[in-house]
Amino acid sequence: MRIRSAALAALLTSSLLTATPASAAPRVPDDINADMTTATNVTNAYWARNWTRFFTGTYQPPKVFGSFRRGVRQPPACGGSRTGFGNAFYCVPGDFIAWDFDLMAGGYRSGDAWVYLVIAHEWGHAVQARIQRSLVPRAQELQADCFAGAVLFGAAAQKTLLFEDGDVAELRAALRRMGDRTPWTDVGDHGSAEQRISFFTRGAEGGVRACLPTASRLPR
Ligand SMILES: [Zn+2]
Repeated sequence: MRIRSAALAALLTSSLLTATPASAAPRVPDDINADMTTATNVTNAYWARNWTRFFTGTYQPPKVFGSFRRGVRQPPACGGSRTGFGNAFYCVPGDFIAWDFDLMAGGYRSGDAWVYLVIAHEWGHAVQARIQRSLVPRAQELQADCFAGAVLFGAAAQKTLLFEDGDVAELRAALRRMGDRTPWTDVGDHGSAEQRISFFTRGAEGGVRACLPTASRLPR
């Protein structure tokens, strides 16, 4: 995936562009750190730009701790509790997003879409912390996948993000790898691979509104 920097710069002055299918572009060499920055900027810009279409109040971005890495940078504490390596997470009391660099690098070997998916998913949890409780289903992990789909495909439709050849297949493969062994049954579950793909796709096709409980029939 690639940022469309000219489009992002124009974003402040342009009106909403109508949704068009993302066309795939040829690949350019990948740089994981650049992709983390792009994923963060594109996700934040999507929510900033579209917030009032879906929610009341003013959008405030979460803080971004960014990467931690064994032997290099300790994971941040969250609400006084220690956190571990091997994870990406949104910390509710600290209102920040953080991820293990090695987790990102592991997924990145099969393609850059992994980084975009993880960051857009964690950002989805920050969104959940900002909206009415009634809009967050018990299946909050599947809603976070749905928001990730809405953001990445929404950003592509609004021409702030450019999908490259293979990105859609990478997203599907990443969700498959991240799926639980068993289907969703309780609040902490992420859902099976099929469920994760299904909810990501729901957001990709139907946008943010399709991720809200009344529309999505997610268990409350
Ligand atoms: Zn999650």
